[in-house]
Order: sequence, then C-alpha cells, then structure tokens
Amino acid sequence: MSRKLRVRQAQTVLPFGVGAVLDIQGESFVATGIGDWPRKRQPVDSPRLAARLRVSGFFAAPPTLNDRYDNQDAPGAPYIRFPNWLFCGSCRRMRRWRIADETPGTPPQCPQCSPRRPLVPMRFVQICKAGHLSDVDWWFWAHSRLDPEDRQACTSRESRDSRAQLSFRVEQRAAGLEALSVVCTAPKCRGARDLLDILGTHGLRCSGRNPWQRATERADCGETVQVVQRTAGNLYYPVVHSALDIPEAEGPPVWEGEAAGRVRASTLWLALCSAPDGPNAPALRGMIKQETQADDALIDALLAEEAGTPVTIAAPDQPVYPDLSSEEWAALTAPAPEATRDFVVRHTDLGLAGENQAPWTTLRERIGKVVLVDRLREVRALQGFTRVAPDATFVPADTSRRLRWLPAVEVYGEGVFLTLDAGRLTDWERVTAVRNRVLGIRADLDRSFQKDRLEAHTGTVLAPRFVLLHTLAHLLIRQLSFESGYTTASLRERVYARADRDQAGLLVYTAAGDAAGTLGGLVQQGEPPHLAETLLRMIEAAAWCSADPLCAEHSGQGFGNLNRGACHACALLPETSCETGNTLLDRVLVVGGGEVPGFFEDVIISARATAVDQEE
Ligand SMILES: [Zn+2]
Ligand SMILES: [Zn+2]
Ligand SMILES: [Zn+2]
Ligand SMILES: [Zn+2]
Ligand SMILES: [Zn+2]
Repeated sequence: MSRKLRVRQAQTVLPFGVGAVLDIQGESFVATGIGDWPRKRQPVDSPRLAARLRVSGFFAAPPTLNDRYDNQDAPGAPYIRFPNWLFCGSCRRMRRWRIADETPGTPPQCPQCSPRRPLVPMRFVQICKAGHLSDVDWWFWAHSRLDPEDRQACTSRESRDSRAQLSFRVEQRAAGLEALSVVCTAPKCRGARDLLDILGTHGLRCSGRNPWQRATERADCGETVQVVQRTAGNLYYPVVHSALDIPEAEGPPVWEGEAAGRVRASTLWLALCSAPDGPNAPALRGMIKQETQADDALIDALLAEEAGTPVTIAAPDQPVYPDLSSEEWAALTAPAPEATRDFVVRHTDLGLAGENQAPWTTLRERIGKVVLVDRLREVRALQGFTRVAPDATFVPADTSRRLRWLPAVEVYGEGVFLTLDAGRLTDWERVTAVRNRVLGIRADLDRSFQKDRLEAHTGTVLAPRFVLLHTLAHLLIRQLSFESGYTTASLRERVYARADRDQAGLLVYTAAGDAAGTLGGLVQQGEPPHLAETLLRMIEAAAWCSADPLCAEHSGQGFGNLNRGACHACALLPETSCETGNTLLDRVLVVGGGEVPGFFEDVIISARATAVDQEE
C-alpha cells in the first residue's frame, strides 16, 4: 500500500508555506516556490488585501488526499524532499537521494540492507541571510580536518554526490553531538569528523539558492553559511498578511480608487515616493498628475499612506506591511453593521446593566462595546519569507519573480469583539508610570529587528493601549480555552489599538472552518452573562503567575526582550494564535504592580473586598 502524505489546505500558507521545511511520517520535505504550483488552483477572493499588497490576486492549492511529494505530476501543493542527504539507521551508510531515486508513494529505503530499511533524513542543514537553504556538504565536512593533499587523494572525491562513500556513525560511549560523526569509507581515506561543533559557521560556501530552484536561478552568494537543525526556529520566518471580509464602506477610501491605482502604476511613482521633498519632486508630481489625472489631494493622501507604512517603496520583491486594521475597526464598531454573506455581527453587552455591586460595576465601567461576530471570513496570504533573522533578505513566494499573485487560503469562523471604555483608557494612558513603563518597551522595540513587522500592528508609535489590549487578548484566549474546551491553538487574536486612529479593541476568533461555518460555541461564550464572568475570572487569574515575583518584575523577557510581565506560565500563546510572535505583552498593565496602576486593578481590589465582606 502506498503511503499518503497530506498537508491540510489551510497549512499550505502557514506553517507549511513556500520555503518551510516539514517533517511528516519520518520523512522531511520543503515547500517549493509558487512557480511549481499546479495549474489547477483555486482563486481566493480578497480585493481589499490584493490592493494593499499590490498584487493581482490570490490562489490556494487544491485540497487533495496526497500532496505532491515524490510525484511532481500529482495535484496538490508541491513539496520536494529535503534534506537530500539521508542515512540508514541499520548499516549507517549515507546516501544523497535524487529525484530519479524517488518511487511515488514509497519512502526512501536503504538499497544495501535486507530486509529493506527506511532511510532517515540528516538532522542538519545550512542557511544564509540571503534566504538560501541547502544540504550540508557532508563530503567536505568529513574531510575538513585532513591536509589538502590527503583530501585530494580520497578516491570518492570525484563522486561526492550519490556515490560518496560516507557513513554516519554513532559512538555509544559518548553523548550528544560528540557521539555523532561523518566518516569517509573510501579505501585508505582517513576523513572523519564528529559533529560536536557542527552548529554555527564554518566557512562553508552557500549554494546560492533554495532546494527547488534550478541551477540557472542560482545567485552568487557571499553570505556566511550557518549550519542549523532543520527544525530550528530561525530556519524560516514567513511574512503572512490577513484580512477579514467586511462590507464595503460608502465609496472606497481614496487610496483604493481607480485613480489611485493609476498613480501607483505610474513609472514615476516610486521615484516620487523615494524623495517626496527632493529637488525633482515638483516635476515628477506634475508629470504624474498629467498622466493619471490625479489631483494634488490624492497624491498627498497616497504619499501619506506610503509614509505611514514602514516600507516606503513597495515593489513585488519587497515585503510591505500595510495597515489593514482601520477598515475592520470601522466595520466592527459601526452602530448598525450591515450583514453580508461573510460578515455577520450583532451588538450585545456584558449583561451588567442592572448591577449595582462591585466588582461588576467596576468591570462594566471599563468595557465599551461587546460585538458578537456570528460569521467571518479571513484570507491569509503568504508574501514570502526570510531565514536566519526576521529582518534578513526577503525571499518572495515566487522565487522566479515573474508571478503577480500570492498563495493564500480562506477560512471561516466566528468571534467575540470588545472595546475598552475610551475615556478611562485615555486617562489611564496619561499616568506617568504607565507611560514610562511602555516607553521602556518602545525603546526595546526601536532596537528590535522586528520593528517594521511589528509596527504594521502597533502603528508607528507604540501606545500603552496596544500592550494592554494585546495582553488582554492573550489572557482571554487562555481563559476561554480553560473554560470552554477550545484549544488555545484554535483561537486567534486581532488587536485594534492604534491610538492615532482612536482604536481600542480586540477580536478573539476561530477561523479553521470551511464555508459551512462553525458551531457558534465561541459566540455563545460572548453572550451575557458568560463574558462578564469569564472576564472577571480572567482578571483575577492574571494577578498571579507561577513564575512570580520573577515574571511580574521582569525588565525584559521573551523575544528581543519585548515582554515585561508575561511568560509561558501566564500569557504566551501558540505562535499561530498571536499576531506579533508573542511579543509586546505585559500583565502588569492589566493588573498593576509597583508604581504602575493596572487598567483592571480596581476590579481585582473590589472583587477581593467583596469576597471578604461575604465571608464576614
Ligand atoms: Zn542500510
Ligand atoms: Zn575520503
Ligand atoms: Zn546564500
Ligand atoms: Zn508569568
Ligand atoms: Zn499576541
């Protein structure tokens, strides 16, 4: 029986999109560029996202029971074997597996062993800052400690690929990487080296490409090569964008109109953007106006929009980080939202209108709107990826740089949206201790190589409300999963907290379902009185972390020191649930600590007081 290997369609963008390495049933593969995608693919509609990312549209790989792993003519998303270097767990021989060696439906097996043994992928691969990925040159590694003459003398020199006589030994008496070594078994050759210091840089040459790229697409790469485990976190940083379907606003915003499209398509536009105040700007502007019939107001609006995004010149091979939040915020907070096929919302409240008792009154005063999202549709698109670090050279999803579309998936779900009371929030943000605490995080953010990426969510200035609402979103997801049986990984957040756009809200949603939609369980959790009770329990739980006092008093933990009082024990979520890679979190802003008043601190105090009263 031939084996079936399948990646769910939603995973073909994240986490197993173009450039990602995945382990599946003991084999290892890499997702190829979209140039290799099948012709029969499914269009995914999202004009709003397409306009913002300046692409022609989106396609999803057709769902199949067996993706294209070893049979490149099959339907489904294309993956190819990587690493190509495999070894036999029985005879320890290493073998470089070529496409010609593949037998569709069958995992690679050791040709020397009987009975046949499966071949296992090598654990180490090499990457560089230009986004390249390749096998480690194991022949070179095995011979790297020899004198050049001895190396030249090795008879396996000429056939270093498939017939290289290498063996992947394991020493029983040693432990760790020291126990592993690659040994040349050619006659008289003494080439051998253990893997003790394999991780890191070794002056190895970069292949100048990714495994699916043809030799003709190879770049002359001078970047330092790093050897990493193929499951290492820095092997792959995808750049993914997501947009909710929302009803079209009355007349499209200026930056989406036809004239705006003509301006952006103008060959002179990028020149104007790169130096909007430069000596040539007036002339460029005049020519663009003549060419596109745009007026100064439109050009100003487009320049402002351009400057508002961190990357000012957007070309197809550059990542862009557009603001997608403003229209969603407007749609979610609209007083009488219009329902469309894929956007159904209704306003509700915490159900505390008749309450005159603390802590309920204290809680009610701090929450603004509660909106239940009965149905939503989200489109997630993969623009490309980087390796080694998030700010390394961007590799577009189409490595051949010819295609104007992006791989995407659509998912349907439901959600709960809530806002904070605007007046109380503004007052709280004025408190010096609050401002200073967030200024510290902002300083770390300015130093972070994730700055561009994170600013797409925070806006250009990180406000206290962002960290507060983001932490609340995490706490709420954790609380909901604790109370209602959702896994944290099945819930996601969207934080709407740009102070300059008067945003102060968060959306917690499920989006894994197909067009049939989901079961309404999450929306039910948002109905009165459930949400108020959940929020109260969540706030009380947030006052304490099992890693306290260390966690709450931390002056910088997590990736890039971008978190304060937030750790795995109290606030972090699975990567896929979080918009900002588990950064910009601080429980202290919610519950208070030291000098800093938490936005919900009074809720805890009044809840405790009430509990004491009831005991007496
Ligand atoms: Zn074998
Ligand atoms: Zn040798
Ligand atoms: Zn390279
Ligand atoms: Zn903690
Ligand atoms: Zn998050």
